[in-house]
Amino acid sequence: MSSNVESLYQEIILDHYKHPRGNTPLADAAGESHQVNPTCGDEVTVGIKVDDSGHVHVGYEGQGCSISQASASVMSELLEGTDVTEMARAERAFVDLMHSKGAGEPDEEVLGDGVAFVGVAKYPARIKCALLPWMALQDARLKAGIEIDKSEG
Ligand code: ZN
Repeated sequence: MSSNVESLYQEIILDHYKHPRGNTPLADAAGESHQVNPTCGDEVTVGIKVDDSGHVHVGYEGQGCSISQASASVMSELLEGTDVTEMARAERAFVDLMHSKGAGEPDEEVLGDGVAFVGVAKYPARIKCALLPWMALQDARLKAGIEIDKSEG
């Protein structure tokens, strides 16, 4: 990765941290999950529901480091209004990216601004920060009884 791309990605993360998208609790969430990353002190609560037309709605609130909070903002922006299949695809792609040790080639169509986290995957201590909101999402999704087809994609 060129240093230009790297600094662009850092700017994207910082922008989400400073101007978070979707960081309000979802009032009528079908499932909600509070997750804590004790090693860094990050906290996030994610709520989810799927409306009658099959669109996903995500809301969150949290506090902590720039990586964890930017990740929540990226996730919320990316998933709002998608359907369950697209959500599952994004969820899997982000988790895979975080386990790529920085060698991943993220697909912007699937991950949106989530591609900016590819460099974070090189730092084991920060991976938990980046994954925290996605772990909360998974848990909230299960609590809401939203099934995803794991064999797809
Ligand atoms: Zn953190």
